[in-house]
Amino acid sequence: MGAPELELPRFLEAALSAGHPWVYRDHVPRDFQASSGAVVRIHAGAFSGFALWDAESQIALRVYSTREEPSAAWVAERVRQAWELRALVRSSDTDAFRWLFGEGDGLPGIVVDVYGKWAVIALYADGLERIADWVADALRATTDLAGIVRRGREAGARLSLVWGRKPPAELVVAEHGVRMTADLELGQKTGLFLDHRENRRFVGSLAAGRRVLNLFSYTGAFSLYAARGGATQVTSVDVAAGAMDAARENFRLNGLDADAHDFVVADVFEHLEHARRKNITWDLVISDPPSFARSKQHQKQALRAYVKLNALAMQVTARGGLLAAASCTSQVSPDAFRQTLAEAASRAKRRFQIIHEAGQPADHPVFAQHLEGRYLKFVVGRVLPAA
Ligand code: SAH
Repeated sequence: MGAPELELPRFLEAALSAGHPWVYRDHVPRDFQASSGAVVRIHAGAFSGFALWDAESQIALRVYSTREEPSAAWVAERVRQAWELRALVRSSDTDAFRWLFGEGDGLPGIVVDVYGKWAVIALYADGLERIADWVADALRATTDLAGIVRRGREAGARLSLVWGRKPPAELVVAEHGVRMTADLELGQKTGLFLDHRENRRFVGSLAAGRRVLNLFSYTGAFSLYAARGGATQVTSVDVAAGAMDAARENFRLNGLDADAHDFVVADVFEHLEHARRKNITWDLVISDPPSFARSKQHQKQALRAYVKLNALAMQVTARGGLLAAASCTSQVSPDAFRQTLAEAASRAKRRFQIIHEAGQPADHPVFAQHLEGRYLKFVVGRVLPAA
Protein backbone atom coordinates (compact mmCIF):
# COMPACT_ATOMS: atom_id res chain seq x y z
CA MET A 1 0.00 0.00 0.00
CA GLY A 2 1.41 3.40 -0.92
CA ALA A 3 1.55 6.41 1.38
CA PRO A 4 -1.69 8.41 1.76
CA GLU A 5 -1.76 11.50 -0.46
CA LEU A 6 -2.35 14.99 0.86
CA GLU A 7 -2.92 18.15 -1.16
CA LEU A 8 -1.56 21.24 0.64
CA PRO A 9 -2.16 24.92 -0.15
CA ARG A 10 -0.32 26.04 -3.24
CA PHE A 11 1.45 28.91 -1.50
CA LEU A 12 3.64 26.36 0.31
CA GLU A 13 5.16 25.28 -3.00
CA ALA A 14 8.02 27.79 -3.00
CA ALA A 15 9.28 27.08 0.53
CA LEU A 16 8.92 23.32 0.20
CA SER A 17 10.59 23.27 -3.21
CA ALA A 18 13.46 25.28 -1.76
CA GLY A 19 13.92 22.55 0.83
CA HIS A 20 12.14 23.92 3.89
CA PRO A 21 11.21 20.75 5.81
CA TRP A 22 8.18 21.84 7.89
CA VAL A 23 4.44 22.16 7.35
CA TYR A 24 2.53 23.81 10.20
CA ARG A 25 -0.77 22.36 11.35
CA ASP A 26 -2.65 25.55 10.34
CA HIS A 27 -1.82 24.75 6.73
CA VAL A 28 -3.18 21.20 6.74
CA PRO A 29 -6.80 20.62 5.68
CA ARG A 30 -8.85 20.12 8.85
CA ASP A 31 -10.29 16.79 7.80
CA PHE A 32 -6.93 15.06 7.29
CA GLN A 33 -6.26 12.29 9.77
CA ALA A 34 -3.40 9.84 10.28
CA SER A 35 -1.51 8.37 13.19
CA SER A 36 1.79 9.88 14.30
CA GLY A 37 4.68 8.51 12.30
CA ALA A 38 2.63 7.75 9.18
CA VAL A 39 4.44 8.57 5.95
CA VAL A 40 2.35 10.94 3.84
CA ARG A 41 2.91 11.83 0.21
CA ILE A 42 2.36 15.57 0.15
CA HIS A 43 1.73 17.89 -2.80
CA ALA A 44 1.77 21.68 -3.02
CA GLY A 45 1.52 23.01 -6.54
CA ALA A 46 4.28 21.24 -8.48
CA PHE A 47 6.04 20.12 -5.31
CA SER A 48 5.72 16.60 -4.02
CA GLY A 49 7.52 14.80 -1.25
CA PHE A 50 7.39 12.23 1.54
CA ALA A 51 6.73 13.57 5.02
CA LEU A 52 6.16 12.14 8.47
CA TRP A 53 2.88 13.03 10.12
CA ASP A 54 2.88 14.20 13.75
CA ALA A 55 -0.61 14.23 15.27
CA GLU A 56 0.35 16.44 18.23
CA SER A 57 2.91 19.18 17.68
CA GLN A 58 2.58 22.54 15.90
CA ILE A 59 4.69 21.16 13.08
CA ALA A 60 2.31 18.65 11.53
CA LEU A 61 4.55 17.32 8.79
CA ARG A 62 8.31 16.96 8.51
CA VAL A 63 9.53 16.41 4.97
CA TYR A 64 12.13 13.67 4.64
CA SER A 65 12.55 13.17 0.92
CA THR A 66 11.22 14.40 -2.40
CA ARG A 67 12.37 11.21 -4.09
CA GLU A 68 11.47 8.16 -2.10
CA GLU A 69 9.71 6.89 0.96
CA PRO A 70 12.26 6.84 3.81
CA SER A 71 13.71 3.35 4.26
CA ALA A 72 16.52 1.80 6.30
CA ALA A 73 18.94 2.32 3.40
CA TRP A 74 17.86 5.91 2.88
CA VAL A 75 18.31 6.69 6.58
CA ALA A 76 21.70 4.93 6.63
CA GLU A 77 22.89 7.19 3.81
CA ARG A 78 21.91 10.31 5.81
CA VAL A 79 23.73 8.96 8.85
CA ARG A 80 26.82 8.26 6.75
CA GLN A 81 26.79 11.75 5.22
CA ALA A 82 26.52 13.26 8.69
CA TRP A 83 29.43 11.15 9.92
CA GLU A 84 31.57 12.37 7.03
CA LEU A 85 30.97 15.98 8.11
CA ARG A 86 31.93 15.19 11.70
CA ALA A 87 35.47 14.45 10.53
CA LEU A 88 35.82 18.24 10.96
CA VAL A 89 35.13 17.87 14.67
CA ARG A 90 36.17 14.39 15.82
CA SER A 91 39.76 13.98 16.90
CA SER A 92 41.92 12.36 19.53
CA ASP A 93 41.26 15.57 21.55
CA THR A 94 37.49 15.69 21.03
CA ASP A 95 35.25 12.66 21.49
CA ALA A 96 31.97 14.41 22.39
CA PHE A 97 30.01 15.82 19.49
CA ARG A 98 26.63 15.89 17.78
CA TRP A 99 26.46 13.25 15.08
CA LEU A 100 22.96 14.08 13.86
CA PHE A 101 21.36 17.49 14.15
CA GLY A 102 17.84 16.76 12.94
CA GLU A 103 16.76 19.13 10.18
CA GLY A 104 20.37 20.28 9.69
CA ASP A 105 21.33 16.76 8.66
CA GLY A 106 18.20 15.97 6.67
CA LEU A 107 16.66 13.82 9.41
CA PRO A 108 14.02 16.12 10.93
CA GLY A 109 13.21 15.59 14.60
CA ILE A 110 16.16 13.33 15.43
CA VAL A 111 19.27 14.24 17.37
CA VAL A 112 22.19 11.92 18.12
CA ASP A 113 25.05 12.95 20.38
CA VAL A 114 28.23 10.95 20.84
CA TYR A 115 30.04 10.78 24.18
CA GLY A 116 33.13 8.64 23.84
CA LYS A 117 31.95 5.13 23.00
CA TRP A 118 28.26 5.92 23.60
CA ALA A 119 25.60 7.42 21.37
CA VAL A 120 22.49 9.11 22.79
CA ILE A 121 19.38 9.37 20.63
CA ALA A 122 16.80 12.08 21.36
CA LEU A 123 13.53 12.39 19.43
CA TYR A 124 11.73 15.72 19.09
CA ALA A 125 8.48 14.43 17.62
CA ASP A 126 6.09 11.53 18.03
CA GLY A 127 6.08 8.66 15.65
CA LEU A 128 9.78 8.59 14.91
CA GLU A 129 10.30 5.14 16.47
CA ARG A 130 10.81 3.29 13.24
CA ILE A 131 13.25 5.86 11.91
CA ALA A 132 15.08 5.85 15.26
CA ASP A 133 15.57 2.08 14.95
CA TRP A 134 17.05 2.53 11.48
CA VAL A 135 19.27 5.30 12.80
CA ALA A 136 20.52 3.05 15.63
CA ASP A 137 21.37 0.29 13.14
CA ALA A 138 23.22 2.78 10.96
CA LEU A 139 25.19 4.20 13.92
CA ARG A 140 26.44 0.73 14.85
CA ALA A 141 27.33 -0.09 11.27
CA THR A 142 29.34 3.14 10.92
CA THR A 143 31.59 3.14 13.97
CA ASP A 144 32.63 1.10 16.97
CA LEU A 145 30.30 1.89 19.90
CA ALA A 146 29.89 0.37 23.38
CA GLY A 147 26.24 1.31 23.63
CA ILE A 148 23.31 3.28 22.25
CA VAL A 149 20.77 4.84 24.61
CA ARG A 150 17.56 6.84 24.19
CA ARG A 151 16.84 9.92 26.20
CA GLY A 152 13.12 10.53 26.94
CA ARG A 153 11.56 13.87 26.07
CA GLU A 154 10.00 14.61 29.45
CA ALA A 155 12.20 16.11 32.16
CA GLY A 156 13.38 13.38 34.48
CA ALA A 157 12.73 10.61 31.96
CA ARG A 158 15.07 7.66 32.30
CA LEU A 159 17.59 6.57 29.75
CA SER A 160 16.58 3.45 27.92
CA LEU A 161 19.08 1.08 26.47
CA VAL A 162 18.70 0.56 22.72
CA TRP A 163 21.75 -1.59 22.16
CA GLY A 164 24.97 -2.66 23.91
CA ARG A 165 25.90 -1.52 27.41
CA LYS A 166 24.60 1.42 29.46
CA PRO A 167 27.14 4.22 30.02
CA PRO A 168 28.68 4.71 33.46
CA ALA A 169 27.11 7.47 35.59
CA GLU A 170 30.29 9.51 35.29
CA LEU A 171 31.51 9.17 31.78
CA VAL A 172 34.65 11.21 31.08
CA VAL A 173 34.91 12.76 27.63
CA ALA A 174 37.29 15.25 26.07
CA GLU A 175 36.71 18.48 24.18
CA HIS A 176 39.80 20.12 22.69
CA GLY A 177 41.70 18.11 25.29
CA VAL A 178 39.65 19.51 28.18
CA ARG A 179 38.26 16.60 30.19
CA MET A 180 34.70 16.69 31.46
CA THR A 181 32.29 14.27 33.06
CA ALA A 182 29.01 13.80 31.25
CA ASP A 183 25.97 12.40 33.01
CA LEU A 184 23.92 11.12 30.10
CA GLU A 185 21.05 10.10 32.36
CA LEU A 186 20.55 13.11 34.63
CA GLY A 187 22.52 15.87 32.94
CA GLN A 188 20.86 18.63 30.92
CA LYS A 189 20.38 18.19 27.18
CA THR A 190 21.99 14.82 26.49
CA GLY A 191 24.68 15.44 29.12
CA LEU A 192 26.72 18.43 27.99
CA PHE A 193 26.14 21.55 25.92
CA LEU A 194 28.20 20.50 22.94
CA ASP A 195 27.31 23.52 20.82
CA HIS A 196 29.74 25.90 22.56
CA ARG A 197 32.88 23.90 21.82
CA GLU A 198 34.50 26.56 19.60
CA ASN A 199 33.15 29.43 21.70
CA ARG A 200 34.78 27.92 24.77
CA ARG A 201 38.05 27.63 22.93
CA PHE A 202 37.81 31.30 21.96
CA VAL A 203 37.16 32.26 25.56
CA GLY A 204 40.20 30.20 26.55
CA SER A 205 42.31 32.21 24.13
CA LEU A 206 41.20 35.47 25.81
CA ALA A 207 41.61 34.42 29.41
CA ALA A 208 45.33 34.81 30.16
CA GLY A 209 45.95 37.09 33.11
CA ARG A 210 42.28 37.91 33.59
CA ARG A 211 39.83 37.48 36.43
CA VAL A 212 36.89 35.63 34.92
CA LEU A 213 33.21 35.41 35.84
CA ASN A 214 31.28 32.53 34.24
CA LEU A 215 27.52 33.00 34.57
CA PHE A 216 25.15 30.01 34.15
CA SER A 217 28.23 27.83 34.37
CA TYR A 218 26.50 24.41 34.57
CA THR A 219 29.37 21.90 35.01
CA GLY A 220 31.98 24.59 34.40
CA ALA A 221 32.91 24.02 30.77
CA PHE A 222 33.72 27.69 30.01
CA SER A 223 35.46 27.96 33.39
CA LEU A 224 37.77 25.06 32.58
CA TYR A 225 38.88 26.63 29.31
CA ALA A 226 39.42 29.98 31.05
CA ALA A 227 41.52 28.36 33.78
CA ARG A 228 43.50 26.36 31.23
CA GLY A 229 43.96 29.55 29.23
CA GLY A 230 45.72 31.23 32.14
CA ALA A 231 42.96 33.10 33.97
CA THR A 232 44.26 34.28 37.34
CA GLN A 233 40.96 33.40 39.01
CA VAL A 234 37.62 32.01 37.82
CA THR A 235 34.24 32.41 39.51
CA SER A 236 31.49 30.06 38.31
CA VAL A 237 27.85 30.80 39.12
CA ASP A 238 24.84 28.51 38.72
CA VAL A 239 21.68 27.80 40.72
CA ALA A 240 22.15 24.05 40.42
CA ALA A 241 24.22 22.77 43.35
CA GLY A 242 24.82 19.42 41.63
CA ALA A 243 26.25 21.15 38.57
CA MET A 244 28.61 23.08 40.83
CA ASP A 245 29.91 19.87 42.45
CA ALA A 246 30.51 18.48 38.97
CA ALA A 247 32.33 21.70 38.01
CA ARG A 248 34.71 21.33 40.96
CA GLU A 249 35.30 17.70 40.05
CA ASN A 250 36.02 18.73 36.44
CA PHE A 251 38.71 21.14 37.66
CA ARG A 252 40.41 18.26 39.47
CA LEU A 253 40.09 16.02 36.42
CA ASN A 254 42.12 18.56 34.48
CA GLY A 255 44.79 18.97 37.13
CA LEU A 256 43.50 22.45 38.01
CA ASP A 257 43.38 23.54 41.64
CA ALA A 258 39.66 23.89 42.40
CA ASP A 259 40.44 25.59 45.71
CA ALA A 260 42.01 28.52 43.87
CA HIS A 261 38.66 29.31 42.26
CA ASP A 262 35.12 30.17 43.36
CA PHE A 263 32.05 28.03 42.80
CA VAL A 264 28.93 29.92 43.73
CA VAL A 265 25.48 28.36 43.95
CA ALA A 266 23.24 31.37 43.39
CA ASP A 267 20.75 33.06 41.14
CA VAL A 268 22.76 34.93 38.52
CA PHE A 269 20.65 38.08 38.69
CA GLU A 270 21.05 38.27 42.46
CA HIS A 271 24.76 37.59 42.22
CA LEU A 272 25.16 40.40 39.69
CA GLU A 273 23.09 42.88 41.73
CA HIS A 274 25.20 42.08 44.75
CA ALA A 275 28.49 42.51 42.86
CA ARG A 276 27.31 45.80 41.39
CA ARG A 277 26.39 47.18 44.79
CA LYS A 278 29.81 46.17 46.13
CA ASN A 279 31.64 47.46 43.02
CA ILE A 280 33.20 44.06 42.32
CA THR A 281 34.34 43.69 38.71
CA TRP A 282 35.84 41.04 36.45
CA ASP A 283 38.07 41.36 33.37
CA LEU A 284 36.16 38.75 31.38
CA VAL A 285 32.51 37.89 31.91
CA ILE A 286 30.75 34.99 30.18
CA SER A 287 26.97 34.80 30.11
CA ASP A 288 25.30 31.68 28.71
CA PRO A 289 21.73 31.60 30.05
CA PRO A 290 19.13 28.91 29.35
CA SER A 291 16.59 29.61 26.62
CA PHE A 292 14.38 32.53 27.63
CA ALA A 293 11.55 31.65 25.22
CA ARG A 294 10.06 28.30 24.38
CA SER A 295 7.72 29.70 21.77
CA LYS A 296 7.14 32.82 19.70
CA GLN A 297 4.69 34.20 22.29
CA HIS A 298 7.55 34.61 24.73
CA GLN A 299 9.84 36.44 22.33
CA LYS A 300 9.34 39.93 23.81
CA GLN A 301 9.89 38.62 27.30
CA ALA A 302 13.13 36.97 26.16
CA LEU A 303 14.40 40.21 24.59
CA ARG A 304 13.76 42.07 27.84
CA ALA A 305 15.57 39.39 29.82
CA TYR A 306 18.66 39.66 27.60
CA VAL A 307 18.72 43.45 28.03
CA LYS A 308 18.45 43.19 31.80
CA LEU A 309 21.01 40.39 32.10
CA ASN A 310 23.64 41.91 29.84
CA ALA A 311 23.25 45.41 31.27
CA LEU A 312 24.09 43.94 34.67
CA ALA A 313 26.93 41.89 33.19
CA MET A 314 28.41 45.02 31.59
CA GLN A 315 28.22 46.84 34.90
CA VAL A 316 30.40 44.22 36.58
CA THR A 317 32.88 44.11 33.68
CA ALA A 318 36.00 46.11 34.45
CA ARG A 319 36.69 49.14 32.25
CA GLY A 320 38.09 47.80 28.97
CA GLY A 321 37.21 44.24 29.99
CA LEU A 322 35.42 41.71 27.82
CA LEU A 323 31.89 40.35 27.83
CA ALA A 324 31.04 37.12 26.00
CA ALA A 325 27.26 37.02 25.70
CA ALA A 326 25.46 33.96 24.40
CA SER A 327 21.85 33.25 23.47
CA CYS A 328 20.36 29.86 22.62
CA THR A 329 16.80 31.13 22.15
CA SER A 330 15.89 30.29 18.56
CA GLN A 331 13.07 32.88 18.60
CA VAL A 332 15.72 35.60 18.95
CA SER A 333 17.61 36.24 15.71
CA PRO A 334 21.28 37.26 15.59
CA ASP A 335 20.16 40.80 14.68
CA ALA A 336 17.67 40.97 17.51
CA PHE A 337 20.24 39.67 19.97
CA ARG A 338 22.80 42.29 18.91
CA GLN A 339 20.07 44.87 19.38
CA THR A 340 19.52 43.73 22.98
CA LEU A 341 23.25 44.19 23.57
CA ALA A 342 23.04 47.74 22.24
CA GLU A 343 20.16 48.45 24.62
CA ALA A 344 21.98 46.79 27.49
CA ALA A 345 24.99 49.03 26.84
CA SER A 346 22.95 52.20 26.90
CA ARG A 347 21.13 51.11 30.04
CA ALA A 348 24.49 50.34 31.69
CA LYS A 349 25.96 53.62 30.38
CA ARG A 350 28.70 51.75 28.57
CA ARG A 351 29.80 51.24 24.99
CA PHE A 352 29.93 47.65 23.77
CA GLN A 353 32.59 47.22 21.10
CA ILE A 354 32.02 43.91 19.29
CA ILE A 355 35.20 42.01 18.45
CA HIS A 356 33.88 38.55 17.62
CA GLU A 357 30.67 36.84 16.64
CA ALA A 358 29.92 33.18 16.20
CA GLY A 359 27.16 30.64 16.29
CA GLN A 360 27.15 26.89 16.10
CA PRO A 361 30.04 24.57 15.28
CA ALA A 362 30.24 22.21 12.30
CA ASP A 363 28.40 19.42 14.12
CA HIS A 364 25.30 21.66 14.36
CA PRO A 365 24.85 22.44 10.65
CA VAL A 366 21.96 24.48 9.28
CA PHE A 367 20.49 24.33 5.80
CA ALA A 368 20.23 27.71 4.13
CA GLN A 369 16.52 27.03 3.57
CA HIS A 370 15.92 26.36 7.25
CA LEU A 371 17.44 29.20 9.23
CA GLU A 372 15.23 28.31 12.20
CA GLY A 373 17.97 25.79 12.92
CA ARG A 374 20.48 28.57 13.54
CA TYR A 375 19.66 29.11 17.21
CA LEU A 376 22.99 29.87 18.88
CA LYS A 377 24.43 33.37 19.12
CA PHE A 378 27.76 34.24 20.70
CA VAL A 379 28.93 37.84 20.75
CA VAL A 380 32.15 38.99 22.39
CA GLY A 381 32.93 42.63 22.92
CA ARG A 382 34.93 45.11 24.93
CA VAL A 383 33.06 47.09 27.55
CA LEU A 384 34.09 50.75 27.50
CA PRO A 385 32.84 53.72 29.48
CA ALA A 386 30.43 56.12 27.79
CA ALA A 387 32.33 58.42 25.42
N1 SAH B 1 27.46 27.44 29.90
C1 SAH B 1 27.12 26.06 30.21
C2 SAH B 1 25.68 25.72 29.88
C3 SAH B 1 24.66 26.59 30.57
S1 SAH B 1 23.06 25.91 30.59
C4 SAH B 1 28.08 25.14 29.47
O1 SAH B 1 28.89 25.62 28.67
O2 SAH B 1 28.05 23.93 29.70
C5 SAH B 1 22.19 26.99 31.60
C6 SAH B 1 22.47 26.85 33.11
O3 SAH B 1 21.85 27.94 33.73
C7 SAH B 1 21.92 25.61 33.78
O4 SAH B 1 22.97 24.93 34.40
C8 SAH B 1 20.93 26.15 34.84
O5 SAH B 1 21.03 25.45 36.09
C9 SAH B 1 21.41 27.56 35.02
N2 SAH B 1 20.42 28.56 35.44
C10 SAH B 1 19.19 28.78 34.95
N3 SAH B 1 18.64 29.88 35.50
C11 SAH B 1 19.55 30.37 36.38
C12 SAH B 1 19.58 31.51 37.24
N4 SAH B 1 18.56 32.36 37.30
N5 SAH B 1 20.68 31.71 37.97
C13 SAH B 1 21.73 30.87 37.91
N6 SAH B 1 21.77 29.78 37.10
C14 SAH B 1 20.69 29.54 36.35
